Amino acid sequence: MADLSRFPRVPLLEGPTPIQELKRLNATLGGVRIFVKRDDFTAIGGGGNKLRKLEFLLGDAKAQAADTVITVGARQSNHARLTAAACAHAGFKCELVLLRTVPREDADYVNNGNILLDDLFGATVHDLPKDGDVAGLVAQRFEALAREGRKVYFAPVGGSSAVGCLGYVSCAQEIEAQSERMGLKFANVITANGSSGTHAGLAAGFAASGRGAAFSKSYAVYYDAEKTRGITLTIARDTLKHLGSDVALAENDILVDGDHRGDGYGIPTDGMRAAVRRMASMEGLLLDPVYSGKAFAGLLRDIRAGKYRRGDNVLFLMTGGAPGLFAYRSAFA
Ligand SMILES: *Cc1c(COP(=O)(O)O)cnc(C)c1O
Repeated sequence: MADLSRFPRVPLLEGPTPIQELKRLNATLGGVRIFVKRDDFTAIGGGGNKLRKLEFLLGDAKAQAADTVITVGARQSNHARLTAAACAHAGFKCELVLLRTVPREDADYVNNGNILLDDLFGATVHDLPKDGDVAGLVAQRFEALAREGRKVYFAPVGGSSAVGCLGYVSCAQEIEAQSERMGLKFANVITANGSSGTHAGLAAGFAASGRGAAFSKSYAVYYDAEKTRGITLTIARDTLKHLGSDVALAENDILVDGDHRGDGYGIPTDGMRAAVRRMASMEGLLLDPVYSGKAFAGLLRDIRAGKYRRGDNVLFLMTGGAPGLFAYRSAFA
């Protein structure tokens, strides 16, 4: 198992996140049992998967003596919101470059949800059109902040660099230890795939532990399956290299399903709406409209289609993103 203790880290989680069974929902599934890994149940900023990456990204920023973090994302980015919160917590100044990627101009989308929280966490938000010049603006902010005597650290989209992905190598190790302790065998670990770092980190972690990268599987919500698989493979390989591991990954080690993305990133699907409602009304748990809602819709459909056997246990990663629901009020009306 890979040793993560040599990588600088700013602690943002309170120990392992719980694994829980979806008891009421499972009673309707004909013998397949879904368990959830509660990465939404994390201590800072409303919680979510990006905190695991930010532990290592902010650790890296601190090691480089940075005092300001810049990151980029879509207008309702959960990664941007959690970067703002983690920066507030750890004492960094934070600037967010947010693109109007999703074709929505209504007040809920533009000003509620994550955007409201970005402001409360004290981040500076730069508003860019869909095809705005991100690299240009980031370069300009680096220069301006340097003139003020600040040292800037850049965190990539979704925090999905080899450094950030160490957070999901750590999660893979947690899952190994918890499933052993709970006496549970899982057929798969399932996640949504946006910027691919979560799946890549899990794949690298399970490859390094000897279980194999294909133990993890994702549902693409940003690019199509083929492109998402390629990006995930590249980041997983970078992560293994960063770990100093010589485990090799093949193309077919990375399992990505692209059938639940609908018309594109941030655009609601009927499956997502049904999944969010079912999880909320049967378990009291919140999925989100952009990522985990579509992934859970995919998992439910695969179970219905007989892709799992009676007696199989599946572990679904709850990645957070509930603030996004407030930006998607109209999708549930
Ligand atoms: C970012 C995000 C994901 C996807 O994680 P990636 O590492 O970007 O693939 C899933 N769920 C939620 C709620 C997210 O915010």
